Amino acid sequence: MSLAEQLDTVTGAAAGTVDRHATTETFESTAPASGAVVGVFPVHDEAAVGETVTRARAAAERWAALGFDGRKQRLSAYRGYLARRMHELADLVHRENGKPHADAILEITLAVDHLAWAAGHARKTLGPRRVSPGLLAANHAAYLEYQPLGVVGVIGPWNYPVFTPMGSIAYALAAGNAVVFKPSEHTPAVGAWLAAAWRAAVPDSADAFQVVTGYGATGAALCRVPVDKLAFTGSAATGKKVMAACAETLTPVLMELGGKDAMIVDDDADVAAAADAAVWGAMSNGGQTCIGIERVYATEAVYDRFVDAVTTQVRSLRPGADGEATYGPMTMSSQIEVVRRHVADAEAAGARVVTGGTDADAFPAEGYVAPTVLLDVPETSAAVQEETFGPTLTITRVRDAEEALQRANATSYGLAGAVFSASKDKAMDLARRMHSGMTSINSVLTFASVPALPFGGVGDSGFGRIHGEDGLKEFTRAKAITRQRVPLPVNLMSFGRPANAADALARVMGMVHGRHR
Ligand code: NDP
Repeated sequence: MSLAEQLDTVTGAAAGTVDRHATTETFESTAPASGAVVGVFPVHDEAAVGETVTRARAAAERWAALGFDGRKQRLSAYRGYLARRMHELADLVHRENGKPHADAILEITLAVDHLAWAAGHARKTLGPRRVSPGLLAANHAAYLEYQPLGVVGVIGPWNYPVFTPMGSIAYALAAGNAVVFKPSEHTPAVGAWLAAAWRAAVPDSADAFQVVTGYGATGAALCRVPVDKLAFTGSAATGKKVMAACAETLTPVLMELGGKDAMIVDDDADVAAAADAAVWGAMSNGGQTCIGIERVYATEAVYDRFVDAVTTQVRSLRPGADGEATYGPMTMSSQIEVVRRHVADAEAAGARVVTGGTDADAFPAEGYVAPTVLLDVPETSAAVQEETFGPTLTITRVRDAEEALQRANATSYGLAGAVFSASKDKAMDLARRMHSGMTSINSVLTFASVPALPFGGVGDSGFGRIHGEDGLKEFTRAKAITRQRVPLPVNLMSFGRPANAADALARVMGMVHGRHR
């Protein structure tokens, strides 16, 4: 029987890929396309979360003791297991999140690649090394290593239910921590599948990666139990609540929050390529992508051609639940009202609607939102300032790339963005000055597929980094050790030092540093 078939029905006597603990309350996960029940899951309370974390603590010690090679071997087994069952997991993602099967394959592919990188680079990034002791401690050896924290709590969203949490889970595990993962209430089946796959692939460390399910309160319990670090991915509003809860137990947090990412299209850009990337960046996954493109600033020289190219492409998109659909339904029905409010607000402020809009065709009853392109949207409107998280794109004409950059940087968010330009130097300069954690040049979202690159935001998009060496270090504490190799004739850090030692030290400092002006 496949893991998907064994899905947690806590109504079934022996069932479960999620440990029920003493929990009696349950909730259903439903398919956004049909409303069909995908699975029934426990609403874990604080006691159940506490038991899970206690079990994880014991597992964390054994997991850490395996060392880099032991963990790498087991993480490889896990990635192999996922890679062999990609279609099964993609089917589940399609059912529970609504995205097309092919998009689910794409996100699982990224997650598998990150697992490989994290496991393969943990020793080099975190392992013990000697560092220069410097002049003042020349008689000592100095050592640095990055030790695991213990148990890392991961709270994830529903929009990329495999790739996004795996950005924390893979790196936290590779760094030697145990993980307790609380998936979104909209995608608990995918979370449960990931943990069940772990138990099947890595049976001797089964408790190193566990899942708890429920609503916001279950996630908040991770802060109170507490864990040793909480990696949160979700909206800025919820992130503030999580930080406040974690403050009570001084639990450190990693915040991966929302975005309002912009694309700059410069005079010399390949307009067709920019339009293609903008449409994918804005509309794929129904626009429910934290690093999705929501705004484009195109210079006067390319604006008309760019709008034409985007319009042509967008007209060929068709949301739906079938295999041919370009994107699926909105995963969370409440998000439909946010999208409608942003579009209506833009229309009221005088925006021109190229495709989509607010009429019944644009918002059919089944939970789909038509691709919507808006021109001339005032910079103060919600559609430009707030995260829309739907298949919408605003396109704004600007004088030049400098004005584009200034407008791109004028929101409180700073997650990612894109620059299209034929000039490498100019594009690099614009990318560096973009107020964001990540920028792609002549493509969109590419940084997420480069495991060596850190992923995270600035401003209201959060802080801390997953992926890359920074992502491994994020789940560790730096440990510094010195070892005296030979004693010095004069020990300055002793009450027995000679009275003239401080004067001699000051003279040496004057010779070494005093010449600098
Ligand atoms: P939410 O902020 O609504 O929820 C995120 C997670 O937090 C869910 O698991 C949710 O559980 C949980 N949660 C809710 N309330 C609390 C609470 N009080 N304490 C602890 N946990 C809580 O975000 P969405 O799920 O709607 O995800 C979309 C958001 O995520 C967007 O803003 C998007 O930009 C952002 N995002 C950011 C990414 C990044 O890497 N920067 C990547 C992907 C998405 P439940 O669902 O059960 O309520």
